[in-house]
This record gives sequence, C-alpha cells and structure tokens, in this order.
Amino acid sequence: MGLSDVHAHLTDPRLAAQEAAVLARAAEAGVTTIISNGLGPADNQRVAALAARSTLVRPAFGLYPVTAVLPEMLAMGVEYHAQDEPIPAEEAIAWLADNLDGCFAVGEIGLDHYWVPEALWARQETIFRALVKLAMDADKAIIIHTRKAERRALEILTELGATRVNWHCYSSKVKLGRRIAQAGHYLSIPANARKADNFRRLLEILPRDRILLETDCPYLSPVSGQLNEPANVAGTAAFAAELWECSPTSVADQVTENFTRLFGAEP
Ligand SMILES: [Zn+2]
Repeated sequence: MGLSDVHAHLTDPRLAAQEAAVLARAAEAGVTTIISNGLGPADNQRVAALAARSTLVRPAFGLYPVTAVLPEMLAMGVEYHAQDEPIPAEEAIAWLADNLDGCFAVGEIGLDHYWVPEALWARQETIFRALVKLAMDADKAIIIHTRKAERRALEILTELGATRVNWHCYSSKVKLGRRIAQAGHYLSIPANARKADNFRRLLEILPRDRILLETDCPYLSPVSGQLNEPANVAGTAAFAAELWECSPTSVADQVTENFTRLFGAEP
C-alpha cells in the first residue's frame, strides 16, 4: 500500500532539524511520495535540495500568497513574520520561470484574504494569474492555497482554463467544494480530518476520484501540541476507510489513481 502526502513543508526548520527521522517514519507508515511545497525562491531552493537528497520527496515550487505581497504589506505597517527576507513578487515570478523544469508541480500559490489587507488584493490577484499561466504553459499541476478567497480563486482558475489543480486544506463551504470537484479539480484532505467536521464532510460528500491526502506539516497535527509530519496521512487513510466502509488499501489505491491522473506521474 503506497500513500502520498501532496502538501508538506519539510523545509520548515522544525522538521528540517529531524529530517532523517521524519522521512524514516513516513516510509514506515507506508508513505512513498511526499510533495514538499515551497513558499518563495529561497524556500524553493531548499525544497529542490531536499528532493535531490531523498527519493521520497518531490519538489513543488511556489510563491505563498502572503509572501507574494509581503514587501507591500510591511511597507503599510502590517506585522507578519516570514522565515525568508521579503522580495518583490516580480523577482519571485522570474525565478520560477527560470526554474520550472526542476519542479514536479507549482505550489503553493493562491489568494489569501485573511492575512492580506484589501488594498493589496488586486496586486495579489495579478501575481496569482501570472503564476497560474506559467504553470499551465509548462504543463505542471498547480497546488492552491486560498483563505477567505475560495470563490474568487475558482473564478480565476476557471477563466484561465486551469484544470490540473489541487486545493490544499480547502476550508470554505462544502457546497463550493463540490463545485470545485465538478470543475475537475482535486481537494486534499489533511491529517486532522478526524477531529475537523468540515474535512470529514468533504470525505463523505466529494466524489472519491477527486480526493487526495495531505498533512500541511508541521501545521495541523491530528494531535494537539505535536508537530505534524507526513506519516500521519496513514491516519487519514484509515479514517476515510471507516467512512467509505472499505479497506485502507482501497483508499490508498483510489488516492494513488487520483494522484496519477492529476500529476501525470505515479506517486
Ligand atoms: Zn502549505
């Protein structure tokens, strides 16, 4: 049984500090593929280096939607902590254009109306469109982060004709989630699904051929106070098996089929 985690942040210093142990526990839990998502050029380079070291890891290069407008946010006096030095989005987009060959997928990218003030939403959207177009031109699947902007993100992706899309940690209305699945996109369910009603509902309601598994580690641990890690996708597969009244192996097979359809490569 091979499991995949399509949204991890293994380059987060808390996980990077115990890289070998985290990867060993993932392998032991049956995880064969982890997509580590980059937040901007500096993080994308760390993701690439990690993927070169580990056969479990596939690199996604992205520009986190808050990072994308961070210089402008800081200039406005908004407080926000980021690991890397903020750089203009134009530089980050140029970096991605130059390095697309080196990534398995583009992500995470998207729209975030939670952290980003409204005055910057138009700029954030312009950057998002540029990134989606880059991914589509390079025939790469896209991994989306959106917060409080799900409807707008779907409008833009639909307008641009993007279909190879995974929505990570989708947390808006179930009805809109169903529309996203109807658009042919995928939704990845995190490891805390057992204790989060909205994710349980998505597992129950969405077409099973649109579902993927993720952790968003080190965030969203299934156990409060603990760091999350890719091994925890096994718990979500077990939970989905209970809800679907099938074996964890059937869940893994379904998710593997979905992964292959989206990314154009087997996990
Ligand atoms: Zn993420």
